[in-house]
Amino acid sequence: MSLAKGPASMSARVLIVEDEAKLAELLRDYFVQAGFETDVLGRGDGVEAHLARREAELVILDLQLPGKDGLEVCKALRARGDRPAIIMVTARVDEIDRLLGLELGADDYVCKPFSPREVVARAHAVLRRLRAVPAGDSLRVGGLELQRGSRRVLVQGDELALTRIEFELLATLMEQPQRVWSRAQLLERVRGTDLSAWERNIDGHVKNLRAKLRPYFKGASPIRSVYGVGYGLDSMVLGT
Ligand code: CA
Repeated sequence: MSLAKGPASMSARVLIVEDEAKLAELLRDYFVQAGFETDVLGRGDGVEAHLARREAELVILDLQLPGKDGLEVCKALRARGDRPAIIMVTARVDEIDRLLGLELGADDYVCKPFSPREVVARAHAVLRRLRAVPAGDSLRVGGLELQRGSRRVLVQGDELALTRIEFELLATLMEQPQRVWSRAQLLERVRGTDLSAWERNIDGHVKNLRAKLRPYFKGASPIRSVYGVGYGLDSMVLGT
C-alpha cells in the first residue's frame, strides 16, 4: 500500500556544512550511525569545490557560515542545476518563513536547537520523497495517485473531481508525504490563486478535500490536523 522504504535501504552520502564543530560532530555521529557516508565542512565557500570532487545526495546546510552563507551556497547549487537534496538549518524559527518566501529550492528547513535524531528523520523523508517520485509527473502515496500533466487524481482506481485549490493542496501534501505544513507554508505553495480567499478558507478547502477522500478510507480522514501547526498526511496513508 505504501511506497515508503525502510531506513535500511537509504544509504547515501551526506555533506554536513556547519561551522560549530561540536554540532557538526554530533550530526556526523548520528548520520554515520544511520548508515550514511558522511563528510563535514566548516565553511560555506568550499561547498561547490567539495561537491565537484565528491558528490553528495544530500546537503545539511547551516545558514550562518564563514566564507559564504547558506543562502548563497543554496542559490549557487541550484543555479548550476545540481540536484543534491538540501536541508537548510537556521537558528531562528521566524527565519523559515522568510526563507520559504525566497524560494531557494531547499527541500526542507529545520530550526536550532534540533535533535540530531530529528534531522536524520527529515533526511530520510527528503530522500525517500526524491526517490519515490518517478521520472514522470505523477505522485503516488498509499492508495492515492496524482497526475500533474492531466490534473487527474485517482483514489483506489476511482477518479476524484477536485477544484484547482484542492488539487494543489493535495499535490503539496503528497510531494513531501512525511511533512506537516503550516497554513502559511501551504499558502506559499499555491500562490497564483486569490490569496485572500485562500487564506480565509484554507480550513474549508481541507474540509472539502477530506470529505471527498473519506469514503476511500473507511470514513476516516487521510489528512490530519496538527494542533497549533497545520496539516499533513495521516500515518494510515503513509502506511507507517
Ligand atoms: Ca553557523
